[in-house]
Amino acid sequence: MQPRIIQSISLFPEIFEATLGVSMMWKAQNKQLIQFQHHNLREFGIGPRKQVDDTPYGGGDGMLLKPEPLFAAIEAAKRIDPDALVILPTPRGERWRQKAAMSMADDTHGLIFVCARYEGYDERVTTLIDRQVSIGDFVLTGGELPALMIIDSVVRLIPGVLGGATSAEIESFSDGDNLEFPQYTRPAEFRGMEVPEVLLSGNHAAIEAWRAEQAG
Ligand code: SAM
Repeated sequence: MQPRIIQSISLFPEIFEATLGVSMMWKAQNKQLIQFQHHNLREFGIGPRKQVDDTPYGGGDGMLLKPEPLFAAIEAAKRIDPDALVILPTPRGERWRQKAAMSMADDTHGLIFVCARYEGYDERVTTLIDRQVSIGDFVLTGGELPALMIIDSVVRLIPGVLGGATSAEIESFSDGDNLEFPQYTRPAEFRGMEVPEVLLSGNHAAIEAWRAEQAG
């Protein structure tokens, strides 16, 4: 099976390389389940100074990403994977949820994340976007962290990435708004704080009942 390709377009590809090169995301690549490819938007910039931004029409603070470099970068990413879904992290997008991560993990399309900076992007780029996603009602400096959060939440659900087959199924939000129960590990007593006795009992039915009661 060919690895699923996840691409990013950003002025700071090193943010992706640092984060996706460790732990589960590294394992997903090492197991050939995922292939990451990061494109530097600057390489698609205009003229000798590789310009990527400009002032907004109508006035206002800050700069916007220009359409030409964004279009060229998305078209280059599409040449690598023509069927890939193009995702734009933006505070104006649909709110990202575990359910969306689950269905994106089940899907087999590649993904292309378009990461804006400054005050955002020329709106015409949205004609190339399949999905606009917000990670919450707050504003970050760029689309890289939102893209990484979405990528992490999806890739860890791809079969074969997580160790235990069931670990993702019983996690928080996997079934509606449920939250996982509290968990403990050794030692049984630490600085006067004891692990709930039922968890040490070996009584699986009682443990399940306790966990169901404790889960939010
Ligand atoms: N001027 C924009 C506004 O008021 O909505 C904010 C621009 S923000 C400084 C730069 C970029 O970071 C955004 O265009 C978007 O790509 C990304 N970003 C910031 N917050 C985000 C969020 N909550 N969810 C997804 N992307 C976000």
